[in-house]
Amino acid sequence: MADLNVGSAPPGRAAAWQPQGEGQWALGHREPLNDNERIKRDDDPLNVRERIETTYSRRGFASIDPDDLHGRFRWMGLYTQRRPGIDGGRTAVLEPHELDDEYFMMRIRADGGQLDLAQLRTVARISRTYARDTADITDRQNIQLHWVRIEDVPAIWEQIEAVGLSTMEACGDCPRVICGSPVAGVAEAEIVDPTPAIREIVDTYLGDPDYANLPRKFKSSVAWLPDTPYQTNDLAFVGTIHPDLGPGFDLWGGGGLSTNPRLAERLGAWVPMHEIPEVWAAVVRLFREYGYRRLRSRARLKFLFADWGAARVRETLEDEFLGRPLVDGPAPELPDRPIDHVGVHRQWDGNRYVGVAPIAGRTSGTSLDRAADAVEAHGSHRVRLTPYQKLLVLDVAPERTEPLIAALREAGLSARPTTWRRNTMACTGIEFCKLAIVETKARAVSLVGEIERRLADLDVDISVNVNGCPNACARTQVADIGLKGQLVPGPDGTTVEGFQIHLGGGLALGRGQRSDFGLKLRGLKTSASELPDYVERVARNYATQRTEGE
Ligand code: SF4
Repeated sequence: MADLNVGSAPPGRAAAWQPQGEGQWALGHREPLNDNERIKRDDDPLNVRERIETTYSRRGFASIDPDDLHGRFRWMGLYTQRRPGIDGGRTAVLEPHELDDEYFMMRIRADGGQLDLAQLRTVARISRTYARDTADITDRQNIQLHWVRIEDVPAIWEQIEAVGLSTMEACGDCPRVICGSPVAGVAEAEIVDPTPAIREIVDTYLGDPDYANLPRKFKSSVAWLPDTPYQTNDLAFVGTIHPDLGPGFDLWGGGGLSTNPRLAERLGAWVPMHEIPEVWAAVVRLFREYGYRRLRSRARLKFLFADWGAARVRETLEDEFLGRPLVDGPAPELPDRPIDHVGVHRQWDGNRYVGVAPIAGRTSGTSLDRAADAVEAHGSHRVRLTPYQKLLVLDVAPERTEPLIAALREAGLSARPTTWRRNTMACTGIEFCKLAIVETKARAVSLVGEIERRLADLDVDISVNVNGCPNACARTQVADIGLKGQLVPGPDGTTVEGFQIHLGGGLALGRGQRSDFGLKLRGLKTSASELPDYVERVARNYATQRTEGE
């Protein structure tokens, strides 16, 4: 265990150098090693809710304690948004508080991406009433609102909680929304619907202080079908069939992107559905105890996986946190490319589900309201959000799919998008994000329009993920064309918004292909204004040079 407790000695100072802890609680390092850890130690972040309700919402933005504003608010799904007019060149040179606007981004979690009609209508109404009609579908199946005032937060909570939604632990160093298959419970190919396990995790562990002070965020996914980007999660359960024991879930861990990307790996364990919550909680506790708390840039669970290896993680999980061995199990069958569910698909009960593609997840309260009208008028009451920023309508009778598609089109939601509209994702970007260097959402919208026009004749299936900074919230490294926002030299010698390009990444590839990160060549950059030219060149070259079946 001693090796856990040391960092590496600086060159030339080995003899005098004293080993330092990485802040692991299990090794007795309870003293905070950075400001984020101090904030969590000083007060349980979940306590901030009461201060928001009783004090800050009544006294206004100026009354908010800075440790709450920049730390604990995140546990309630709240971030200050970026003050308008501050360009990307100043992101790194200004102090975080100098970037603060007095408005908030609010993230509403939808575990498993599941929303009923009442929830959809409530989100739409809140968006129009309190959030200037903003409502983005994120690539983790949340809905993100902007322009929220602190004064309105209690009223929003009251309304969303009345329909069973929550913002609790939507951000912060805690278990974030649990991703799930957007077609759980209706897919023909699904053997076990793990929605009850997701519900049990949320009901049992969300809001429990013992699970809400982790070294860093904890992203998890529970799905029979491999239709969530499970390889980029800290922990994932993927459906598989044990030759003797039958259907269960294969355990994966240690994934995450950002500046040190790492794909999750198998622990080689088979978990029946009823044990998922227990195993999920044990992994969270392992992360809480052994995760690194010295540097935030090394705090995600993936760093522990990288240092220990999956075998040791499993052994520690079994010995110290479960008190029993896990059952060995087989790997799941993987598809040959990601599944986004856009279009019309058959459910196991004979009904259809219809997937529509807002560009880069951008919708509005108005559009969601119109979608809710269309959904209800065509006999459905359930929708799902996907980790590819799409919206699905479930339970549509076959004869009602075409009228529904027409009605959704009126709301700006296309069930038959071009491949560009379908395959483009974008993170929040400089419009609202304080870490952003460049614009993303509006740029994705204009890129899609431009490329649709230029490449109408071309039959290629290329994904483009637009990210405003190295943090890769829209999965830079696993797109065909992954874009990482940065400032680049412009034509007249000034710096302009642009992107470093990661080329040829991909996820969920079976049939002998591998999941892999895109190639990042140092000089492979484009300015934002030249982005359509670059994408067009890649697409045309690919179309002429691709091999049979590629
Ligand atoms: Fe913000 Fe960067 Fe994440 Fe985009 S990738 S949302 S700019 S932190």
